[in-house]
Amino acid sequence: MPKTIAVVSIKGGVGKTTTCINLAAYTAAMGVKVLLLDLDPQNGCLYGMGLEVRPGHSLKDAILNQVSPEKTLTSTNRPELNVLLNGFFETGEELEAFQAAFEKDAHLLDTLLTTLTREGDFTPDLILIDCPAGVSALTINALVTSDSVILPMQCEPLSLRTLPQMLRSVASVKSRYNPRLVVEGVLTTMFDPRQEAKFGVAQQVWTDFPEDMVFETVIPRHDQLVESFAIGAPAIDISARSVGSQAYIQLGRELIMRLPEEQG
Ligand code: ADP
Ligand code: MG
Repeated sequence: MPKTIAVVSIKGGVGKTTTCINLAAYTAAMGVKVLLLDLDPQNGCLYGMGLEVRPGHSLKDAILNQVSPEKTLTSTNRPELNVLLNGFFETGEELEAFQAAFEKDAHLLDTLLTTLTREGDFTPDLILIDCPAGVSALTINALVTSDSVILPMQCEPLSLRTLPQMLRSVASVKSRYNPRLVVEGVLTTMFDPRQEAKFGVAQQVWTDFPEDMVFETVIPRHDQLVESFAIGAPAIDISARSVGSQAYIQLGRELIMRLPEEQG
């Protein structure tokens, strides 16, 4: 059974997609078989990894066009890493139908991933789900199928204020649908010493949350992470020694240590 982790936040632009791409690339480089699932119709994983949607190879095709989920994967330069891209919506109605399918069935993604891992040749050890911002039916579906959540928190006041709501949503899904769901960790992102001196947001997280609920790794604000996203490759593939890449490598190590023995 793979370990499934949803990367979630209420606020957009906090580093969910950047975290997913770099964690997926690093853990795959370490030999973990990873499925990166882009649940966000913004298709951030596609751009950030420099991929293309081949006809029929997207989550949209599995949900709306009845393509078998195990046939929808996109391969990458690493055999250990496959991506289930979100797909492009030709019309507003198509996107509404996609979202409505998840609204109708909170277990839709769970069923799809069960089929994918049971029927496909690719049997992942780790599934990372890149969620859209907010708590729509898409995110609820991700929480229903996940073992844990990573909560990226941009080190600025608004992001901190939205964290309690996200935690309440996680607790609500846990009690209604998925008792095994736990918090893998709050991840402080875009850490900037000048902002921290002004607002003390990271400090507040470290004092407010128990140690085992916050990743030790702090992701700094670093332009190279933006640049590699624009180029369309994980930062660790462009310059593994940069400050941003090193932070994600450290985070990847933290995560691998938490995987069951045979996967880590
Ligand atoms: P989300 O998926 O939460 O919306 P993204 O990962 O897409 O967030 O990041 C939003 C923007 O911030 C992108 O332009 C990305 O390149 C940039 N970014 C992400 N992490 C960092 C960081 N640590 N330092 C600087 N820029 C970052
Ligand atoms: Mg994103």
